[in-house]
Amino acid sequence: CGIFAYMNYRVPKTRKEIFETLIKGLQRLEYRGYDSAGVAIDGNNHEVKERHIQLVKKKGKVKALDEELYKQDSMDLKVEFETHFGIAHTRWATHGVPNAVNSHPQRSDKDNEFVVIHNGIITNYKDLRKFLESKGYEFESETDTETIAKLIKYVFDNRETEDITFSTLVERVIQQLEGAFALVFKSIHYPGEAVATRRGSPLLIGVRSKYKLSTEQIPVLYRTCNIENVKNICKTRMKRLDSSTCLHAVGDKAVEFFFASDASAIIEHTNRVIFLEDDDIAAVADGKLSIHRVKRSASDDPSRAIQTLQ
Ligand code: GLU
Repeated sequence: CGIFAYMNYRVPKTRKEIFETLIKGLQRLEYRGYDSAGVAIDGNNHEVKERHIQLVKKKGKVKALDEELYKQDSMDLKVEFETHFGIAHTRWATHGVPNAVNSHPQRSDKDNEFVVIHNGIITNYKDLRKFLESKGYEFESETDTETIAKLIKYVFDNRETEDITFSTLVERVIQQLEGAFALVFKSIHYPGEAVATRRGSPLLIGVRSKYKLSTEQIPVLYRTCNIENVKNICKTRMKRLDSSTCLHAVGDKAVEFFFASDASAIIEHTNRVIFLEDDDIAAVADGKLSIHRVKRSASDDPSRAIQTLQ
């Protein structure tokens, strides 16, 4: 049960380096316990436009996943990506046995239009699954998490405008979810982007940049803080934001972002971190990070939540 995601923006990295970063991140989270692991990656450079998302999942140790990554013939390890986003997960099964299909990332469909990694439990997943099955979405796993992957596709398929943003989709999805979650999404419709959110389960973002980031670039209430001072920060940290506040952060310069369930996976890369709070949505696109907080509209009654979906 650990999340680790990594984005390099204008910091060229080979696919091999990216894998190493993702695997190392997962290994730092191993102590939390897990039974399987998986990654989803895409990447862009001048020559290669990889819109598709590759998924690799494996039951057992992170080491087994690591070995599996190098067996994939389709992946040229020397390809260099200027911008890339990879998400990785170790799973502690709560719904569905530990196996490759049930491990994360979970996906919306065979083309991996949307993929998601999840820590936590979705308590209203049965109702959501019934609803989505009634709309023709076919499930392949036994997990609660797969409903999230299908739900975001449902929201996308039924979008009212073409230019809907990734974070708007995620916002609509979490309004339907009950339970605990930290989530990171990727989509072939939004290459090089990722959206993260949480409620109940922890999630933080590390930011590494050669450039000094001004306070305008770092949102005041989310001022990055020093991991060494975590205890202090927890005490003094952040007033709750107004739900309508939208914050834009971090410059247009070369930057790397790390998303993790736990600071131990980030500290070797940077000590500048942002702790997400419940119902925060953090979106990375074009090397910019924006965070805003969503007001929950779904009631505790899952059947009512589904009505708002229809
Ligand atoms: N409930 C999810 C599952 O069983 C996520 C478990 C976890 O936090 O690793 O797949």
